[in-house]
Amino acid sequence: MNNLATPLSAYFVYAKHTMKLHRASHLGWCFGVRDAVRDAQLAATSGPVTILGELVHNPAVLEDLRQRGILTRHDPADLTTQRVLITAHGASRHRINSLRELGLEVTETTCPLVHKAHAALDSLVRRGCHPVIIGQRHHVEVRGLAEDHPGCDIVLTEAEIDALPSQPIFGVVSQTTQPIARVRELLHHLKTRFPEAEVHFRDTVCQPTKDRQQAAEDLAATCTVVVVVGGRHSNNTRQLAATCGKFCARVHHVESAGEISPDWFNAEDQVGLTAGTSTPDDAIESVEARLREIAAAHTNGRAAHSPAA
Ligand code: SF4
Repeated sequence: MNNLATPLSAYFVYAKHTMKLHRASHLGWCFGVRDAVRDAQLAATSGPVTILGELVHNPAVLEDLRQRGILTRHDPADLTTQRVLITAHGASRHRINSLRELGLEVTETTCPLVHKAHAALDSLVRRGCHPVIIGQRHHVEVRGLAEDHPGCDIVLTEAEIDALPSQPIFGVVSQTTQPIARVRELLHHLKTRFPEAEVHFRDTVCQPTKDRQQAAEDLAATCTVVVVVGGRHSNNTRQLAATCGKFCARVHHVESAGEISPDWFNAEDQVGLTAGTSTPDDAIESVEARLREIAAAHTNGRAAHSPAA
C-alpha cells in the first residue's frame, strides 16, 4: 500500500537518475580476426608453430595463444620452428617467398579483405599509377602492402601529402582499418595539392571497420561517456576511441574490466560500450558486467536517498 501512495513523479526522478548502459550496434571481433585465431589454434594441435608478428593486437588473445604453445617472433632470424604463420594483417609476396626459400612451411592467416587491398594496389600499379597508401607507415599491414612496391609513398597527414613529389597519375589505397571519413579528407587534399594529376582511388577500408566506426559515432553522439575496449596497440581500437572523442567529451579506452574506475561515472550517465575488431567477446562481456555492477551501485545509492525510500 505504501508503494501505491508514492507520488508518480518520484519514480520519474528516480528513472531519470539511473545510469544506463548502451552497446554499439556493431562491436568486437571481425570475421578476419576470428578466423585467424581459429587457424592458429588449429595449427597448434599438430606441432610446434611460430606466428611472425602479433596475430592480433590484443594481449589477452596473445596470452591464450602462448599458453597453447604457439611462439611469437618478430624477426625471421629468430624462428626456431619449421612451421610459420603469417598474421591476419598479411605480408608482402616478397617476404612470404623469402620465408619459403628458407625451407619454412608458411601458412597465411591473412584476412581476405587485406588480400583485397593488396590486389587493389597491384592493379593500380599495373595501370601505370604511382602507388600511395593512406595508413601508418610502421603498421605491419602497411609494410606488407608497401614492400611489393618499392618507391611507393605512405601518408597519414596533409603535411605528408604536401611533401610528395608530383606524379602524373596517383593510385591510392588505404590501410583497412583507417576511418573512411579521414581517408576521404586526405584524398581530397591530394587532389587539391596536385590539381593537374589523375588520382585513382580504391576504397580498401574494410566493412567491419566502417560498421564499427559508424556505430561508434552514433553511440558517442547520444551518450555522456563511452568505454572503448581493446588492445592499446590495436589501430582500429584507437581509431574508435578517437572517433568517439569527436562526439563525446568523456571517452575511456581500456583493455580489461580491471582498469575501470567507478569514479568515471555518475548516476545520470548514459554509458556507451564499444570494442575494436581484435577484442574478444569475453573481454567485452567482463567490461559490460563491471559497468552493470557500477550502474547497480549508483542505483542503490540513489534509491537509499530517493523520496520513495
Ligand atoms: S579489421 Fe577488417 S581487414 Fe582487418 S582482419 Fe578484420 S575484417 Fe579483416
